[in-house]
Amino acid sequence: MISVSINNNIVSGPEEQLIPAHLSYGQYMYDQLKKGGNEIALVSAETSESVTYRELLENSVSVAVELQKLGLKKGDLVSLSCENRFEFVPAALGVIFSGGILSTWNITYSTGELVHLLHITKPKFIFVSPITALNIQESCKEVPYDIKLILFGEDEVIPALMYNNLIKLKVNVDDFTLTDVNGKEDPVAVMCSSGTTGLPKGVMLTHVNFLTLTQHMRFYYDASKLKGKHDIINALSLIPWFHAYGFITTMATIAMHKKIVFLIRFDEKQFLETIQNYKINATTIVPPLAVFLAKHPLVPKYDLSSLNEVWCGAAPLSSEIQRAISKRTGLNFIKQGYGLTEVTMACCVDLTGGEKIGSCGTPAPGMKIKVLDIESGQKLGPGKEGELWIKSPLTMKGYMGDKAASEALFDSEGYVRTGDIGYYDKDGFFYIVDRLKELIKYKGFQVAPAEIEALLLQHKGVAECGVIGKPDELAGELPLAFVVRQPGSNVSEEELVKYIASKVSPAKHLRGGVIFIDEIPKNQSGKILRRELKKMLLTPKSKL
Ligand code: AMP
Repeated sequence: MISVSINNNIVSGPEEQLIPAHLSYGQYMYDQLKKGGNEIALVSAETSESVTYRELLENSVSVAVELQKLGLKKGDLVSLSCENRFEFVPAALGVIFSGGILSTWNITYSTGELVHLLHITKPKFIFVSPITALNIQESCKEVPYDIKLILFGEDEVIPALMYNNLIKLKVNVDDFTLTDVNGKEDPVAVMCSSGTTGLPKGVMLTHVNFLTLTQHMRFYYDASKLKGKHDIINALSLIPWFHAYGFITTMATIAMHKKIVFLIRFDEKQFLETIQNYKINATTIVPPLAVFLAKHPLVPKYDLSSLNEVWCGAAPLSSEIQRAISKRTGLNFIKQGYGLTEVTMACCVDLTGGEKIGSCGTPAPGMKIKVLDIESGQKLGPGKEGELWIKSPLTMKGYMGDKAASEALFDSEGYVRTGDIGYYDKDGFFYIVDRLKELIKYKGFQVAPAEIEALLLQHKGVAECGVIGKPDELAGELPLAFVVRQPGSNVSEEELVKYIASKVSPAKHLRGGVIFIDEIPKNQSGKILRRELKKMLLTPKSKL
């Protein structure tokens, strides 16, 4: 039974499981790696190479010792920017074991974004891979202090310290003592907010934030109604580990001693082959991947029957796509979670077996959520849409180097503004409608792009889509859809405009029209980059 209560229009999750304030996330992960012993921890789907928990521990400790020798002190920040690869985990844990603060950076950041982050975080060291090395090296020239780069792999693509040299000297892990921390106060990581509307912010998360989230993940796993058909033995990880969603879920899976098969990037065939060949039981995905599972012609050609737990988060997922996946793959139910980096990701999780399709679930342990009317600020009851505000043991310490933005995020009772529009039902299950900033205003009516996108995706001619507001002098904005056609489809603009008009109220009609394109711009966590779509609207070549 899922414990949730509604009092005075505040929805609360189960009782908080208190983490003692002095605890260290590093020590916890050290202990878990030790327990994992000679079991396989990570497998590369590309090369079939693997590492054991023992090897991860040894390499993490070597990195920690070498960083300390190179001058790293408690509280110094170390960045890491690379694709999913073996070195990622020991580098990340090595930083944490040595008392440093880890900051993971998107591999696609532009020089401008990187310079912005360098100014905020002032790293002493940055771990880079051949993919990110040059860009980061160039960005470092723009700041007036010395940063040492540590390069993964064999190829010396830039002059840097080589990671392989750091892990050459094997240290006895039992002789290593982790740096003491004050778990409630000391940041363990600075994760980057998605920055879909502006430059990314550095979200400071504490050891206790990470430990709490890890404990929640165990709780979700134990409470899952779908558990049992196949226990999680093999998990597939393909969300980028530099994003908080990929990082935290992967680390929590390591802490549960599962075997993780990982992909460097999404590739249609490799994704399906990996599930089939490694008999993957559990994976975490983002909505574009859910759409792929629901619609792509390759999917029925593979045996995906080993899959039992599929979690989806980071952007809206429609119930129709959830249903379509179950129908096509035999998977009982694809579960949604909802969260934001500022609240250590998982704020709501669906633990049902599909009884509340379309919902992202109920609040996490110790979490309180209120929904406020956008105009009046009044707390709303069940079924009424407003902005979600969250109070939780997972709440961040603040934004690094931006006190004003941190303060602006909280209300006087300690609730964090999410910027998301949603509602809860009478049982305390939440439904996310869209982001406040992305709502289209048509003659004063609010139109949620996610709702129109969900409908368009039900059309057999549509493979992908993104909806934005087209500026209009009279109406303010007109809903306009960018659409990628399904292979072989000739669906027309007129057909799609009529189709939407037959399904929704007049304010939501596609009065701005339909533009067919080859690909919808999205970030790695699956969020549609609407600012890119808006730019495309201004360039005439996008109109085919
Ligand atoms: P980030 O911190 O970059 O992961 O972005 C957090 C944002 O992702 C939230 O504020 C939501 O707008 C969005 N998001 C996360 N999970 C969901 C979900 N299940 N449904 C809808 N939007 C989501």
